[in-house]
Amino acid sequence: MPGEFALIDRIRARARSRVDVLLGIGDDAAILRVPAGHDLVVTSDTLVSGVHFPAQTAPTDIGWKALAVNLSDLAAMAATPAWCTLALTLPDADADADWVDAFLDGFLELAERHDVALVGGDTTRGPLSITVTAHGFVPEGQALRRDGAHAGDEVWVTGSIGDAAGALAQWRARGPSSAKLRHRLDRPTPRIAVGLALRGIATAGIDLSDGLAADLGHVLAASSVGARIDLGRLPTSRTLADHFEQAQRWPLQLSGGDDYELCFTAPASAAFAIEQALAACDVTGTVVGQLVAEPGLRFTTPEGEDYVPAAAGFQHFQGVH
Ligand code: ADP
Ligand code: MG
Repeated sequence: MPGEFALIDRIRARARSRVDVLLGIGDDAAILRVPAGHDLVVTSDTLVSGVHFPAQTAPTDIGWKALAVNLSDLAAMAATPAWCTLALTLPDADADADWVDAFLDGFLELAERHDVALVGGDTTRGPLSITVTAHGFVPEGQALRRDGAHAGDEVWVTGSIGDAAGALAQWRARGPSSAKLRHRLDRPTPRIAVGLALRGIATAGIDLSDGLAADLGHVLAASSVGARIDLGRLPTSRTLADHFEQAQRWPLQLSGGDDYELCFTAPASAAFAIEQALAACDVTGTVVGQLVAEPGLRFTTPEGEDYVPAAAGFQHFQGVH
């Protein structure tokens, strides 16, 4: 079994650098240069086996997702990703080297797509857990925050929502499952290009990790506004519609989580610019409702009735096979 330093060497051998990395993996800390006139945007997320992913998830998918959830946070801030660090806690198992290699396959594939350099980290023994910290830049003052939304703004959602939660529901039920839905759970696509395109257009934004109800709720709280969301307009993939009826879909789409789409707000006058920006990124966008001055988040069915979503359930995968 390789020791900690052999594992770090494996990681170092595969990590690509960038010109703004003055010193990467190998010293006590990395030295990084932020471009002039830019703010540094930093985010961190931990994935714990059995809590954030089923213990038997393929290591390549875990690697992809560990970085993807962090890049999604940078996308939601309209930041250009640049660097990341990786803190790995690995069980004392003979398969460590193989596991790390497979993990890096997924992690580095996504890192290379977005020109993100792995510049350091930490390697320890313990129950499997992965913490990634990602760093990005925005031109000074141009980050997309949660607190800029105004009453009257439209609420947009990229792509489609509910697929990942649908995959989880199928997995828990141990019945028929869709590979397409499962792919959206295991390999979320961070909407980096969309975040960048929304600079100067959107008034507020967030990425959808815990479900639209909870995450839009954060924007509303930060911006001191309310919202009315039309359930008939929720962007829904063909696959989700094929596997779940409407009444089953709403809880998945509102409270399921793991979508990693962006939810953002903008005045109606910006709709055309947004359509163009999204088209240039080859991503669809849907207006799902509007912000109102009165606090609170209300969902309305196509029949015009109020709909109260279930509270987001804590996802726990231990002991489920
Ligand atoms: P220290 O004891 O000074 O913290 P470490 O032995 O933890 O040093 O790490 C040595 C170098 O390897 C550091 O540059 C650190 O950032 C890097 N490193 C350690 N673990 C990882 C990892 N999982 N991924 C990337 N770099 C790592
Ligand atoms: Mg260390």
